[in-house]
Amino acid sequence: MAETTAAPVPSDHIMGVYSRTPLAFERGEGARLYTTDGEAYLDCLAGIAVNALGHGHPKLVQAVKDQAEKLWHVSNIFTIPGQEKLATALTAASGLDVVFFTNSGTEAIECAIKAARKHHWAKGQPERIDIIGFDGSFHGRTLAAVNASGNAAYLEGFGPPMPGFVHLPFDDLEGIRAAVGPTTAAILLEPVQGEGGARSWPDSTLRAIRELCDETGTLLIYDEIQCGLGRTGKLFAHEWVEGAAPDIMTVAKALGGGFPVGACLATAEAASGMTPGSHGSTYGGNPLAMAVGLAAVEELVKPALQAHVREIAGYFNQQLTGLKDRFPDVVVDIRGKGLLIGVKLATPNREFMQHAREERLLIAGGGDNCVRLLPPLTLTLDEAREAVEKLERACEAARRKAAA
Ligand SMILES: *Cc1c(COP(=O)(O)O)cnc(C)c1O
Repeated sequence: MAETTAAPVPSDHIMGVYSRTPLAFERGEGARLYTTDGEAYLDCLAGIAVNALGHGHPKLVQAVKDQAEKLWHVSNIFTIPGQEKLATALTAASGLDVVFFTNSGTEAIECAIKAARKHHWAKGQPERIDIIGFDGSFHGRTLAAVNASGNAAYLEGFGPPMPGFVHLPFDDLEGIRAAVGPTTAAILLEPVQGEGGARSWPDSTLRAIRELCDETGTLLIYDEIQCGLGRTGKLFAHEWVEGAAPDIMTVAKALGGGFPVGACLATAEAASGMTPGSHGSTYGGNPLAMAVGLAAVEELVKPALQAHVREIAGYFNQQLTGLKDRFPDVVVDIRGKGLLIGVKLATPNREFMQHAREERLLIAGGGDNCVRLLPPLTLTLDEAREAVEKLERACEAARRKAAA
């Protein structure tokens, strides 16, 4: 198949922090994206797990239009009824008590970290500031978030590491037990790591961490920005594990279906230090964002959607296992949960993404030489079949390339 059409990328005036694919889209519908010259791509990355309801979902489009004609923005100095509605939906769905709305995932993480530290401060333990994070995690790009995840590549050049952040290997329970001490504020983890390569925490470890937190008064923060809101086939990824609920949880990505909105949820107890003046945001929770978020959440909470995710995920799992058997020289592992799927490769993942693009299939990269499939949760079985066929041809191309 022909090379992807290379639209010139106007990079002269864009800060060069992304190495972009020379591919520009004009329009989207469901799991399809169309380039400016009308070429269709099957979208199995969904803006990195953002377009969970696909592109141009009629209810989201209508919600934007309706709200756009009424009111976009006021200020958080006023009561915003849309916040009340979305917070009610999110707390009812999660069992948490209160919500702070943000414009992005990383701001939700900022709020989580600040809430955790302030909780201990308000309890007379200001020394409890340490946030324990894990290898392979990703929490966003603000300075606190890159310090929390500890990824050296994202920290380099940005000054000394901040105090109050501790990094541990993934899933080393003894290491975690040893690390929790009198200065620990919180443990921060993604129940299923996204950028790190679709790695799932074992149920037993999550339960043990929850117990450890209860014993030590440590707050447990889940970053469900990527794995939450239906992505794994339950509304929240931690629901797969009984007895491992968080004190604080961040969501974003799917929450606005492409409109920038995030949220930090917490128990009333965990948020008890967050009093008037202690935090804020100009745009966070504005009426436009709330209208879209509410429309998205009304769809995402539907049990039928979650059942659909589990069905499509089961199909992928079976088919990708088949690919692994037929292409052991290309595919070495299938991991993840639901429609947060990681395919660990023996050949370079960047090249594999290019092979997939040549088949007009969009997939995401990931740590540990993985590619990720993060399709819209609404992906149909026919579209899943088509994705598998395209992946099979990408495997053939990877094999040819390796042999050349
Ligand atoms: C994407 C992501 C973030 C950061 O979200 P932004 O909206 O880019 O700030 C944080 N945590 C996880 C797990 C993510 O996948």
